[in-house]
Amino acid sequence: LQLTLAVIKPDAVAHPIMSEAVHEKILSNNFLIIRSKELEWKATDSQRFYCEHKGRFFYQRLVEFMSSGPMRAYILAHENAIQLWRDLMGPTKVFRARITASETIRGSLGLTDTRNTTHGSDSVESACREMAFFFPEFSTS
Ligand code: ATP
Ligand code: MG
Repeated sequence: LQLTLAVIKPDAVAHPIMSEAVHEKILSNNFLIIRSKELEWKATDSQRFYCEHKGRFFYQRLVEFMSSGPMRAYILAHENAIQLWRDLMGPTKVFRARITASETIRGSLGLTDTRNTTHGSDSVESACREMAFFFPEFSTS
């Protein structure tokens, strides 16, 4: 089984009907929940996590949004977990998600390109890095 890091972002955690819908997606797709916790970021955590986007026009917005309230993070296990979770999230851009993938999480619940409800690791390397970032006490070795 492969592991991935999934996050319910502050926009969805602020509205239990949204975070419960995401949690339901996790269960109905038979992911194993290896770890789960609620946490809140300071702006510095957000900057550190999204340093690859520093300089992009949406960076400041993204950093503020991600430290604007509680999130829920998961380590999920499934065959092909990284791609499966990203497929369930749908496209980053809310317009594209609504038009071409309305059944996905972002297509049905995403508010804007920034406030798009969920995060998922995009490679084995980022999954390792992100699992350690959110769950420093969790070790896969
Ligand atoms: P994530 O990394 O959150 O799973 P992603 O891999 O689909 O999303 P990235 O390109 O890594 O997308 O962007 C990280 C986050 O930055 C996005 O989820 C979104 O919140 C924000 N973002 C990305 N592109 C834009 C944009 N064009 N306008 C506004 N916000 C954006
Ligand atoms: Mg990404």
